[in-house]
Formats: sequence, C-alpha cells, structure tokens
Amino acid sequence: MNKTSYITNRRKWLIENEPFCILCDNFVGSNGDLTHIIRQSYSIKLQMNDLNNGLSHRACHQIFDDQPKNAKYLPRINEVLKRMKSLDEKYYNRYVDRMK
Ligand SMILES: [Zn+2]
Repeated sequence: MNKTSYITNRRKWLIENEPFCILCDNFVGSNGDLTHIIRQSYSIKLQMNDLNNGLSHRACHQIFDDQPKNAKYLPRINEVLKRMKSLDEKYYNRYVDRMK
C-alpha cells in the first residue's frame, strides 16, 4: 500500500471506529486530522504503523507538534507519550526534554 492510500484508509477507519481526539479525548469525527505521534519526517518506517497515529483536532495537533511546553495540558498526553516511548525511545526522550 502506498502512503496516500494508507492515510485515506486509516483516517476513514478511525472516523468510523475511534472518532475521538487522541490528545483531548473529545469527539472529533470527520473534522479530525490524521496525527502522527512520531513525526513523518523523523521516521519513514513508522509512517504507516497504526500505533503511530490517531485522529485529533487541528488545534490539539498544533499544540502537540509545535508547542511541546503546552502539551502537558492535553488530557491524553500521558497515553500518547507512552505510545511514543514504545515506538522510539530516543524520540521520546527528545520530546520530553522539549516539554520542560
Ligand atoms: Zn482535541
């Protein structure tokens, strides 16, 4: 499967089965961004790993990606960090360091 069809199919599956924001836990449904826990630019290998993504609100997604210092206020950040750590410990350590 190529990346574009993976993203389309995965997003569709999540909207039907897990329509909640992985960062704040509120409903997001078809307004959700497909959000990667480990950035796509960091790991090509993890781009199409189901554990590495979920739906989120655009605003939550931006906090998570661009404002790690504020990410501690996202209600589900601990779950996301746990997943991040299981996927790539080096990336996790770097992210947690940026949250300080
Ligand atoms: Zn959210």
